[in-house]
Amino acid sequence: MRCVLCRQLVQITWTLPVILGQRRLRVPQLCAACLRTFAPIVVATACPGCGRADSPTLCVDCQRWARQGALLHHRALFSYNAAMKAFIQQYKGLGDWRLHTAFQAQLVPPVSGVIVPLTSEPAHFIARGFDPVLGLFAHLSLHLWLQKTDTSTPQAQKNRAGRLATPQSFSVRSGVVFGRTRRVILVDDLYTTGRTLYHAAAALRMAGFRGEITSFSLIR
Ligand SMILES: [Zn+2]
Ligand SMILES: [Zn+2]
Repeated sequence: MRCVLCRQLVQITWTLPVILGQRRLRVPQLCAACLRTFAPIVVATACPGCGRADSPTLCVDCQRWARQGALLHHRALFSYNAAMKAFIQQYKGLGDWRLHTAFQAQLVPPVSGVIVPLTSEPAHFIARGFDPVLGLFAHLSLHLWLQKTDTSTPQAQKNRAGRLATPQSFSVRSGVVFGRTRRVILVDDLYTTGRTLYHAAAALRMAGFRGEITSFSLIR
């Protein structure tokens, strides 16, 4: 196995539960040196609402979301440091599909539930040729319950106020049956203001979903 970023050989640690088949082997796609360049978020000291690093109590933004309804209690794995910005530029900006597996050993939601990815707008999908969120989470069982209509300005080109003012563009696909689903985990590549994830949650509520909704992303 070679590191998807630097092509060095990756060491695989065979633990007893994996050898005995009690736990699935999650093959690391990044070497230790590359993995060290990213900044993991420590859950114990992260905001309980949005998962931002070094905010052990509910941050000001989450206090605002809490006044509008239920918090998502978002969890994210890494801060958006220089190494992560370079990764996203290579993967999404340049459209390097080979990187979609990079974090599959780490990208496992902390709780169980139906995993619903926030898919790209059709125009972005056509321009890039792949959906970056579906790629990052392709190792998990995904439920494509949400669809997104095209919006005028890409999120990445907006400032904070512009992002927060983005209108709802998510809806639940026709034919989706929630059944006995108790918890939905919305997954995305990046949590910036939370606007997109809260819109996705609102679309599920609009369609009648009554269970718990939480969210998970690679980056905060
Ligand atoms: Zn490497
Ligand atoms: Zn927060």
